[in-house]
Formats: sequence, C-alpha cells, structure tokens
Amino acid sequence: MEKISVAVRFRPPNPEAADPSPAGAGGGGYREWRIDDTRVSLLHRAAGPVPVPGASFAFDHVFDGAATNERIYGALVRELIGAVVGGFNGTAFAYGQTSSGKTFTMNGSEADPGIIPHAVRDVFDTVRQADDREFLIRVSYMEIYNEEINDLLTIEGQKLRIHESLERGVYVAGLREEIVNSAEQVLELLQLGEANRHFGETNMNVRSSRSHTIFRMVIESSGKDQTDSGDAIRVSVLNLVDLAGSERIMKTGAEGVRLNEGKYINKSLMILGNVINKLSENGKQRGHIPYRDSKLTRILQPALGGNAKTSIICTAAPEEIHIEETRGTLQFASRAKCVSNCAQVNEILTDAALLKRQKLEIEELRKKLQGSHSEGLEQVVLKLRNDMHKSELERDRLAMELEEEKKLRVTLEQHLTEQQKKLEAISSDHFTDSIQLDALKTPDSKSVPDGFVACRSRYSNDVQFSPLPENLDNIAHEDLWTRLNKGCVTDLDMLEMTPGLKREASFIQDTSAVPLEEPTDTRCHRLEKECISDRQQLEASKARCANLEKERDVLRDQNLFLQQELSESKREADSLVAEKQAQLDDLRAKCAAFEKDLYTTRQEAHRLATEKQELTGELGTERQKLDELKQDIRVISRGFLQREGQLTSLYTKSKAILENCKTSQVATLP
Ligand code: ADP
Ligand code: MG
Repeated sequence: MEKISVAVRFRPPNPEAADPSPAGAGGGGYREWRIDDTRVSLLHRAAGPVPVPGASFAFDHVFDGAATNERIYGALVRELIGAVVGGFNGTAFAYGQTSSGKTFTMNGSEADPGIIPHAVRDVFDTVRQADDREFLIRVSYMEIYNEEINDLLTIEGQKLRIHESLERGVYVAGLREEIVNSAEQVLELLQLGEANRHFGETNMNVRSSRSHTIFRMVIESSGKDQTDSGDAIRVSVLNLVDLAGSERIMKTGAEGVRLNEGKYINKSLMILGNVINKLSENGKQRGHIPYRDSKLTRILQPALGGNAKTSIICTAAPEEIHIEETRGTLQFASRAKCVSNCAQVNEILTDAALLKRQKLEIEELRKKLQGSHSEGLEQVVLKLRNDMHKSELERDRLAMELEEEKKLRVTLEQHLTEQQKKLEAISSDHFTDSIQLDALKTPDSKSVPDGFVACRSRYSNDVQFSPLPENLDNIAHEDLWTRLNKGCVTDLDMLEMTPGLKREASFIQDTSAVPLEEPTDTRCHRLEKECISDRQQLEASKARCANLEKERDVLRDQNLFLQQELSESKREADSLVAEKQAQLDDLRAKCAAFEKDLYTTRQEAHRLATEKQELTGELGTERQKLDELKQDIRVISRGFLQREGQLTSLYTKSKAILENCKTSQVATLP
C-alpha cells in the first residue's frame, strides 16, 4: 500500500486584485496564508496563525507563487514517470478552483513548460535508456464535457461510451489511439487536441476550460532478447489530468450554457470528492465507493485507491476573496493525503498486448525490408503499426455498434410482438367459457331453446364490460330481437370488437336478478341506451385499434430501417476489412517483390563470387607458373654468366698464347 502524493501550489497573487494593506506574517505577498515547505496555515489579518483546528494543513509539498513548473514536476511527477516506464500505472492530476493555475501547471507556457510536456520528454528519454527492452507507446486525449466523453484527437469521436471487459478493464470505446515514437510527435498531437477543447468565458478566467481533460499514454514493453512468444509483456497507463475548475455560480455570474456546464463540473467534482472521502475512511467502514456516479471517477477508478501510483497537485488562489474556495481545496487535499493505492507492475501473457500481436508481424516485415530500404525502415514500421492499430480499433468499434444495434433490434422486436399480442387480444373475444355464455342469456331467451339475446341490463354503462360471445351461432329470434331493440339493428360483427375481456362473477350472477316484469317500453328504452353506449365503446375500440396498428406500422418501419442500417454497417465493415486486407495484400506483394529482387541479387552475387573464386584459382596457377619460369630464367642466366666467365678466361688465355706466338715469331725472323 502506498499513499497518494499530494502537493499544494499557490499561484502568484493577481496584480489586478492587489490589496493595499501591508503584507502579513506569511510574507511573499501572501497575507491570508502562511506557506512553509510542507504546511499551509490560515492567518489572522493582524495576528499570527489562527489557532482554529483544521486551519493548518500539512502535505508532501507546498509551493508558493515563485515555484516553477519544472520544480513541481521534479518533486511530484519525475519519479512517477520512471515507474510508469517500468510497468506501473501512474496518474497525476491538478485540482482546484477556476483560475487557480491547473492548466498552467499541467500545460505550462513556452518559458515554463508544464507537467505534460516534461513527462512526455521524460518518457522518451527513459525509454531510450532502457536498451534491454523494446517499447510501443500510444497516446490518446479525451475530454469530459457535460458528462459526455469526446475524443480530442478526432472530431468524429463524440459522446463515447465507457465499457468494461476482463481483458482491458474499464476503457473508452472508440477512442483514437496514435502510436508514437518521439516526444515532438506527441506534443503536436497535444496541440491538435488543445484546439478542440471547450473553452468558455466566465468572470473568473477569460479562457477558462470547461471540461476535464485526460491525456493518456499507454506504454507496452518486452525484453529484447525474448524470442519466445509466451513471454510476458508489461502494459502500463499514464494519465495526466487537467480538471475543470470548481466554481461558485453566484461569483462567476454564469448563466445559460455556462451555468449548465458549471453544474456538471461541480457535480463531477463533488463525486470525485465523495470518492476521495470514502477512500480516506478506515478500510472496513468504507462501504460502497461511488466510482460509477460520474464518468471522471469511473475512468480514473484504477488511479483512485486502485492499481496506480498517483500524484495530486492542488492549486489555490492566494487572494482574500478566494479564502472559502482555497479552504475547500485544502480540505480535499487533506482527504486525498489519507488515500492509499496498491500499485503493481502489470504483466500480461495474453494477446491483449498490442505489442505482442504486432511484434511478430513487424519483425517479419522488418527482416524482409532490411538491407534493401533500411533508411526509411523506421518510418515504414511506424506507419504499419499505426495502420494496424487503427484498423483494430475500427473493427472493435464496428463490432460494438453491431452489438448495440442487435440489442436494439431485439428490444424493438419484443415490443412489436407485445403490441401484436395486444392487438390480437383486443380483436378476439374471450368469452368462451360456457358459464359466461349461460350467464349472458336473458331470462327471456333462456325459455326459448334456440334463443340468445345480448342482454346487458346491469353492466352496460361500464365501458370495460361488453361481454359478447365469440360464437354467435345461437342468435335470438329475429322478431324478438327487433322488438327488443325497437328496430335498432346491432352489427354483431362490430360488437365482437369490444374489449370486454374480464367480467366479474358478481355481474354474471346478478343477471338472473333482472326483473322479468319490467315493462316493454322501459326495457326497450334501456336497451336502446345500451345500444348507443355499445356503439360508443365500439368506436373507441376501433380508434384504439387503429392507433395500435399505426404504432405497429411505425415499429415495423423502424425495424426495417434498423435492419437496413445494420446491413449497411455490415457492408461498411466488410468493405473496410476488404480494404485493409487489400492494403495488407499490397504490402505483402511488395514485400514478396522485394524478396524476389533480393533473391535474384543474391544469386547474381553468388555467381560472381564463384567466378571470382575460379579466376583467383587460375591467377594462382599462372603466378606459380610465372614463379617457376622466373626460377628457370634465374638458373639459365646463372649458367650463362658462368659460361660467359669461362669464355672470357678462354679468350684471355688464347689472346695471351697468340701474343706469345707473335713475340716468338718476331724474335726468330732475320
Ligand atoms: P485554471 O486552469 O485553474 O482555471 P489557469 O491555469 O488557466 O487556471 O490560470 C489562470 C491564469 O493564471 C492564467 O493566465 C495563468 O497563466 C496564470 N497562472 C496560473 N498559475 C500561475 C503561476 N504559477 N505562475 C504564473 N502564472 C500563473
Ligand atoms: Mg484550466
């Protein structure tokens, strides 16, 4: 178990709301609050700290207006980023009244970048240093505006729903996730999202944000030397949340749309407060934690008392007019200080890790591409990753829509069946019971064996009851009927439509009590009245019937429309799948072509290498021959020199002999 880190940050006093009174004991321009390293105390205007219990609060850090975003990041979030890259879930959020500096803390300015840009850069730096692991990072950016979740990275993603599954836990269905490989890319996406954020104007802050935003990075990683696909992959989520500001509606002067927004904001912040309050209570007395009461708490559920390391930066305004709100913020922060989380590294072995599914495929493509087009390889891989991920998300979204439409269709069909049943019930007569039939007979007709008169002496005024038998084959004698009705002929087919379904037993039994001695005129008069009332009932039933039929037709049309939409969605899904398949086929074909090229080039290289080897062999032989020839020449020239020496000495000797001969000849001459 690990406590949530909580810091309080006072923004610099607003120069427009400057108070001319001298600065209090707190110094630094904070006349209402004394700010120490870890403590905030409420001051009396003239004297020192107020000795009221609860007026002094202690936190992990307390910063005054001089603190930079970088310092706050270093104290509260830097460590969290290291943990997230290592596989823990992490969440940092800014809480506070409107205009107290939440957005400034999270986003910052150009001169003093906020927590989000610092965190993004740090994630990539840390990832780069972890050279024994391979990472896949994807980001999403959403807002909760008037309790509706909108995607900030695409304008199509509006009113998204929260779903929960065993594999993915709580997630926002259809949310765009972009796979990224540099901090710059993420910051560009953030800028795009920021432009889509809902800003409004209240008296408190000209550019006050009216929605909660959640920037999310999902970091998947696996060991680089893991070749076995059964190895675990770490998946961690970093949530960086900029909440909309709580506000007192009286003070902001909000009305119309702004008032409505303010109510939603206050409600969700109140639920966040409730969740924190519950979590800060002693474990056993905690009871139910109302995460589901707002979208914000539902999405942040793991970060609040769950599997995550969490840092909260509570921002406050130092001015006197904001004392009430600041005190509320400090109370929230104190409660949050008591909440513990239980974070652990998330390792999964299933295919839910995107990295795992993509890794093999990408590795395959990487191998194919390597050597031929290695310069653009990283770009190609990133694009492939994004394409694959997008089509997966799209497929999930379509599957979900299909599921919902199916459910809707089933509901409509049920409704339709119910309506049809009602219709049938109305149009059919339920008086099949023989006792009821008997009871329907007037005492007069009872005396006539084949006679039957639809007599309603007691119950005719009640529109609920108009009990005519289904089988009217035992009709009263025509004369008797005419006499009884004074010439008024009742359309029995129409009478069958009357919805006289239930007839109480007491009525039925009472029929026997109809006075037989009633004068004919009175009786006729009564019957005439009954007849009129019957007609009215019939008209009403007809109208009801027509209405029901209309309703049924509308439902049928709706059903038809839904079926058409369903088949259209299916067609769209099919065409999307086909398109993606075609793209994949195209890529595969390209890869195959590359492979073929590579193969041909390799073969050529192999042939050349063989030729070279042969030539080198031949060259060796030639060289050897040359060496031998040189050796021969050397031997020959040595012999030649020897011969030359011999010849020279021979020549010298012969010359000497010749000289001697010449000399002796001259001496012997006279
Ligand atoms: P919130 O998001 O809480 O409604 P903002 O972050 O929009 O409030 O802050 C309101 C104004 O105060 C903005 O102009 C912002 O630049 C300024 N501000 C807030 N905190 C600081 C701070 N620590 N240093 C300088 N300016 C700040
Ligand atoms: Mg803001």
